[in-house]
Amino acid sequence: MNSILKEIKFKNEPILKYLASSNERAELEAEITKMKNSFLDIPIIIGGKEIRTSDKGQCRLPHDHNKIIGEYCKAGKEETKLAIKEALDAKSKWESIPWESRVSIFLKAAELASGPWRAKLNAATMLTQSKTYKQAEIDSACELIDFLNFNAHALQQIYSDQPISSKGVWNRTEYRPLEGFVFAVSPFNFTSIAANLPSAPAMAGNTVLWKPASNSVYSAYTVYKLLQEAGLPEGVINFIPGNAGVISSTVLSSEYLSGIHFTGSTQVFCDLWASVGNNLANYRTFPRLVGETGGKNFVIAHPSTDRKSLVKGLIDGAFEYQGQKCSAASRAYISKSVWDDIKDDLIKKANDIKVDNIEEIDTFMGAVIDKKAFNTIVEYIEYARESAEAEILAGGEYDDSQGYFIKPTIILTDNPKFKTMEEEIFGPVLTVYLYEDGKYSETLRLCDSTSKYGLTGSIFSTDRYAIEEAQKVLTHSAGNFYINVRPTGAVVGQQPFGGSRLSGTNDKAGSKINMMRWISPRVIKENLL
Ligand code: NAD
Repeated sequence: MNSILKEIKFKNEPILKYLASSNERAELEAEITKMKNSFLDIPIIIGGKEIRTSDKGQCRLPHDHNKIIGEYCKAGKEETKLAIKEALDAKSKWESIPWESRVSIFLKAAELASGPWRAKLNAATMLTQSKTYKQAEIDSACELIDFLNFNAHALQQIYSDQPISSKGVWNRTEYRPLEGFVFAVSPFNFTSIAANLPSAPAMAGNTVLWKPASNSVYSAYTVYKLLQEAGLPEGVINFIPGNAGVISSTVLSSEYLSGIHFTGSTQVFCDLWASVGNNLANYRTFPRLVGETGGKNFVIAHPSTDRKSLVKGLIDGAFEYQGQKCSAASRAYISKSVWDDIKDDLIKKANDIKVDNIEEIDTFMGAVIDKKAFNTIVEYIEYARESAEAEILAGGEYDDSQGYFIKPTIILTDNPKFKTMEEEIFGPVLTVYLYEDGKYSETLRLCDSTSKYGLTGSIFSTDRYAIEEAQKVLTHSAGNFYINVRPTGAVVGQQPFGGSRLSGTNDKAGSKINMMRWISPRVIKENLL
C-alpha cells in the first residue's frame, strides 16, 4: 500500500457502570443466563481447524462449584507438535502482509469487544473466574480493548523509528518478527492478560502457540472466537489448552522456539527458563523470555498519612477480586499513631464486605478460583491462627460447601518477617506490621529487604520529604510504585505494568517496551553513490 499513515491515536476505553436500568446491565444479565443454561464444548484450534481429544477438562463456577458450564479438550504431545508445524507454516504469509493489514484485525477485535462482544467477554469472566460486574468490566472489557488498541499505537511508533542517513548513504531499519514461533502461556486471573499474551507477538508478525490456564479456558476461548471473528487467519494463533507439563516440554524442545510470553507464578517461569537453558544448544536463535510473575506488594503508612485514603487503599488494594490480582496489597507497614486512628474503621470495613455470588451487583468479593487455591489460602490463615506471633483481626473464616469463599482476612503480626509478610498468598489476606513513629527510615529498609519480589507498592504520606525518601529507598522494591493510592489498578497506556527481582523481566505489558521484545530489527545500509 503506497501510503504513510497518520498516527494511530490511543484513548482508554470508558468503564461502563451497569446501573439497574441500563442496556449494558440487561445485556450482561441475559448473557450470563444464556451461558449458565448452555454447555460449551471447547475444542483445541490448530491451523484454524477444531480438534477434539478424549482427554477433557471442566469449566466450573468457583462460587458454585457443582455447576459446570462447559468442557475443553486437552492437547497432548501430538497436538502440540501439530500446532508447532501449523504456526511455522502460517508464518511466511502472515509476516509478509503489510503491517497495517495485520494490525487492522486487532483494531477490529477491539471494536467488537467494545460493542457486541462486551457482554460475552464479561459474562465468561464473571462466571468462570468469579469476578464481580466491576472487576469483569475493568478486565475483560476495558483492559482487553486497551491492550489491543495500545499495541497497535506502540507498534506504529516502533516502526516509525528510523536511523539517520549521511551523504550518499540511505539507512533504514526493518522491524522483522522473530524467526520461529512464540509460546504464550497465560494465567487464570485476567482475561485481558490472556488476550494480550498471544496477540502482542502476533500483531508484530509472529505466529503463536497459546496455552491458556486450565481455570480460565472458557473466557480464553471466548477471546479466541472474538479474534477469529475479527479476521485472524488460520495458524497465526493456535489455541492449545491442556496439560502444561506435556505441552511445554514439547514446545521447549523445538529448535524453532523464538520466544516465551508468560504471565503466572514465579516458580513456573523459573522452570521454563531452566528448561530453555538446558535446551539452548538445540535452538536456532536465542529465545526471548518475557515473564511477569508473582508479587508481595506492600503499603507503607507514614505518620502524616491521610487516614481515610489509607483505609480505602488497604480495603480495595487487598480485597478486590479476592486478593487474586498480582498487584494486590498483602503486607502493610503502619505507624502506630496512624493505626490507633484507623484500626476500628479498617476492621469494620473488612467485616462489612459482601462475599457472595458475583451475579449480585453489590457483591464486592466472589470466590477464589479453585479448591487448590482455597486450601493454600486456608493453610496460611490457620498458620497465623496457631502462631504466637500473629492475631487475626478480621475474617479468618471460610466455607467451600457451595463455592470457594474466604472472608477478607486481616492478620496483625509483631514479627516483620512473619511467613505471611514474606510469601505470596494470592488470596484475600492482608498482614499488618506496626512500627514506632520514629522508625520510618528503618521501616523502609525493612520493607525493601523482606521480599524476593519487586512488583508493586504504595506509600501513603502527606509529607513530601517522607515520600521522596520512600521513593529512593524503595527504588528496586516495585516496578509500579504508587503514592497515596492503592498499589493495584494499573491502566494500559497510563501505568505500564511489571516488576523486577523475582516478579519478572519487567517488560511492561501494554507498552512499547513489551512490543520491542517481539521484533528483531534488520538495519539496511544502501550506498547511493
Ligand atoms: P500459574 O503459574 O499456576 O499458571 C500460569 C500458567 O502457567 C498457566 O497457563 C499454567 O497452566 C501454566 N503452567 C503451569 N505449569 C507449567 C509448566 N510446567 N510449563 C508451562 N506452563 C505451565 O499461575 P496462575 O495461578 O494462573 O496465576 C497466578 C500467578 O500469576 C500469581 O503468582 C500472580 O502473581 C501471577 N501474575 C502475575 C502478573 C504480573 O503481571 N506480574 C499478572 C497476573 C498474574
